[in-house]
Amino acid sequence: MQKIQMKTPLVEMDGDEMTRILWQQIKDELILPFVDLKTEYYDLGLVEREKTKDAVTMEAALANKKYGVAVKCATITPNKQRVEEYNLSEMWKSPNGTIRAVLDGTVFRAPILIDSIKPAVRNWKKPITIARHAYGDVYKATEYRIPGEGKAELLFTAKDGTEMRQTIYDFECAGVLQGQYNKDSSIRSFAHSCFKYAIATKQDLWFSTKDTISKQYDQTFKLIFEEIYQNEYKDEFEKLGIEYFYTLIDDAVARVIRSEGGFIWACKNYDGDVMSDMVSTAFGSLAMMTSVLVSPDGNYEYEAAHGTVTRHYYRYLKGEETSTNPMATIFAWTGALRKRGELDELPDLVAFADKLEAACIQTLNDGIMTKDLAGLVEDKSAVTPVNSMGFLKAIRERM
Ligand code: NAP
Ligand code: MG
Repeated sequence: MQKIQMKTPLVEMDGDEMTRILWQQIKDELILPFVDLKTEYYDLGLVEREKTKDAVTMEAALANKKYGVAVKCATITPNKQRVEEYNLSEMWKSPNGTIRAVLDGTVFRAPILIDSIKPAVRNWKKPITIARHAYGDVYKATEYRIPGEGKAELLFTAKDGTEMRQTIYDFECAGVLQGQYNKDSSIRSFAHSCFKYAIATKQDLWFSTKDTISKQYDQTFKLIFEEIYQNEYKDEFEKLGIEYFYTLIDDAVARVIRSEGGFIWACKNYDGDVMSDMVSTAFGSLAMMTSVLVSPDGNYEYEAAHGTVTRHYYRYLKGEETSTNPMATIFAWTGALRKRGELDELPDLVAFADKLEAACIQTLNDGIMTKDLAGLVEDKSAVTPVNSMGFLKAIRERM
């Protein structure tokens, strides 16, 4: 069989632990036999990040900007325990944070649905994609514990020295205090990414904040979205028959639960963090959640939403059999290959991505699945639980 050819390399970002093992297996079993794979390889595994003083992460992020499409394996975000475990010279930053800062993107997360696993919300029939603004707010906040009586003020000093000052609260007792910010430039990027993604996937776009309470902060998000929509995307939306609408987050939550799914829900950073966990759990499993970072100038980074599955890795190291679900990591590969195929006008590569996804779904519909999913299916008689390799082999047969 002649292998499918590529033009531009994918930026390949390898990672850590169980997902690093799966990464190689997915390539060997499902991609390399069919595609003459061209990648520019960056090893973001913690060992290599330590060796290069994390320079490799920045190089990978810049390569993503240069070539446009990357596929990333899950990576360890070091904490104190990891610093000891890997003998790190520094607590290196989250690679995802570094990549997001370079691409200035929005994270879109969508579940993979199969017939045998019913969403916890009965009327959900199509995936709900969460678009999370990945910058600022509580994630970049400055905060104190206030020890006791005293006055808290909000002060802004402009470049020319003029001041804006307001009392936040006259504390009569101990308490807490927090300052948050965001930037118009980042909110604009967020809006552009959302509108572009809605057009690319032909889905309605919902956006929600709490602008009735946050009359400057959240209101700014609402106004920027509205302005950009009216000026730049309205015609295209109308042509495609898709809709943009803004609503209060309370109202959005109620509508989401009553909906059939099949739309994008854009959320501020914190809302997106929380809601994406709720939505993925309600759809079935974190192991079935895909994730793509989209930058406003059209760069893409595909990954799984879950982490490196540490608990399984330590079992694997002891030689025990593991049943880690590779679906989200396979879909990171297919997402990236499809996008590369679209950009380079390679219909065979696009078709390959479609076929590989179809083979995965077919395998699951045949009842062959990893243990995390097997536990979620009601009719257990129709299920054959397998380990990761058994699952990959079953997909390969169907390919
Ligand atoms: P995790 O790797 O997502 O795993 C948490 C648990 O969820 C697992 O122990 C497993 O449950 C289940 N799970 C997740 N993915 C699964 C899969 N594909 N198949 C089967 N079960 C799956 O989260 P974590 O344990 O909190 O984090 C581990 C490491 O990943 C950390 O070092 C963290 O920094 C990193 N992380 C990286 C990313 C990223 O690169 N994007 C994201 C999140 C976390 P059971 O053990 O019950 O089977
Ligand atoms: Mg979260």
